[in-house]
Amino acid sequence: MRLSRYFLPVLKETPGDAQVVSHQLMLRAGMIRQTAAGIYAWLPMGLRVLRKIENIVREEQDRAGAIEVLMPTIQSAELWKQSGRYEAYGPEMLRIIDRHDREMLFSPTAEELFTVIFQNGTKSYRELPRNLYQIQWKFRDEVRPRFGVLRGREFLMKDAYSFDLDFAGARHSYNRMFIAYMRTFARMGLHAIPMRADTGPIGGDLSHEFIVLAPTGESDVFYHRNWEQGHDTSAIDADDAGALERFIDGLNADYAATDEKRDPAAEAETGDALKQSKGIEVGQVFYFGDKYTRAMGVSVQGPDGVAVAPLMGSYGIGVSRLMGAIIEASHDEAGIIWPDAVAPYKVALINLRVDDEACAAAADGLYAQLTAAGVEVLYDDRDERGGAKFATADLIGLPWQLVVGPKGIKAGVVELKRRGGEREEVSIEAATARLS
Ligand code: ATP
Ligand code: MG
Ligand code: MG
Ligand code: MG
Repeated sequence: MRLSRYFLPVLKETPGDAQVVSHQLMLRAGMIRQTAAGIYAWLPMGLRVLRKIENIVREEQDRAGAIEVLMPTIQSAELWKQSGRYEAYGPEMLRIIDRHDREMLFSPTAEELFTVIFQNGTKSYRELPRNLYQIQWKFRDEVRPRFGVLRGREFLMKDAYSFDLDFAGARHSYNRMFIAYMRTFARMGLHAIPMRADTGPIGGDLSHEFIVLAPTGESDVFYHRNWEQGHDTSAIDADDAGALERFIDGLNADYAATDEKRDPAAEAETGDALKQSKGIEVGQVFYFGDKYTRAMGVSVQGPDGVAVAPLMGSYGIGVSRLMGAIIEASHDEAGIIWPDAVAPYKVALINLRVDDEACAAAADGLYAQLTAAGVEVLYDDRDERGGAKFATADLIGLPWQLVVGPKGIKAGVVELKRRGGEREEVSIEAATARLS
């Protein structure tokens, strides 16, 4: 992409109403614009990152055996009256009346709808287990929307719903999502700690929140210092229920709990290893048994011919919130430092002198070659001062900067710089080889 033809409205000043660094940087880097409290327009740069995060989430859901669907954002109140949540959910639910005076709502989550859609396509226990998911916008009329995409009112969520015949199966489905979550966050360069959590309006008795430690987080969390290291999940075979359960039990032997689930006895046992922090909730997994299948009258034919209500879990990831969490975890004074896996482009190609024929030819050549090799390049071909170009490149945080200047070109070299790291002079050939 040529910057001269792109839509990248960067801001020089830090907007006064943005309190946390991720919100400030997303506004300054031209990724989002607020259109109403907690509601954002996604500009091209922001959208690219959103899609990358979404794709990692999707790949790990698919890998865990979940099946993607897409549900409507607007739902009928009827469904929610059946489960009893239409009243119970409270003012966070955005209620809508249509022209025929029917009660509708903008989905804040979707247990009810997935339960009836599941029933619609399932008759027998032989079709279990099933796990259906979607990546879809949600709306919650938060009392205090703030911190940009960290707490929006409209936000993108991955929500999955599992259906099993018995507890052992349901537990395995829960564990599969648990490990999928660890893999998902690790791939984005995030260290998210699974913590014992309250179930809130979803209900049920078993739940973990995945928390990224950050001073700007809204949750108070308590954990064993062993959790500060990452855990290698690559060797775990998620199809092996026993091995998976042992692995997860092993992890959970180290205490980690959110404020609502603190356990004084376990904390005493943790002793000096107990740590306290603020954290950002990037995902949550729930097991709630037959709460919704019973309420919605959903059953399948069991092995002995008797109807059984499947046992359910639900599993959310805050896809748009993740972008804020990643920036909170990875930035410096000059701007964002994107982890490679979610960077909007891999390389900022900077031509320092667009009026110099040799520079322009070399930069055009690099752009053509890298693009042809499938490298995502944002080419700063604008007629601007070098300083302004560097500032933009640092602000938007692409992992690499490739700088073409008149002196270097005379000597046949360009500068290759890692965002937030080393810089070196290399030949044009070496630069393309390194980046391809
Ligand atoms: P929170 O405690 O932050 O209000 P929640 O517990 O109400 O979140 P869940 O019902 O568990 O949220 O939804 C699944 C995920 O959706 C959360 O883990 C979070 O990452 C994301 N999420 C929830 N509310 C918001 C929001 N207002 N803005 C952005 N992401 C959100
Ligand atoms: Mg909430
Ligand atoms: Mg929560
Ligand atoms: Mg939650």
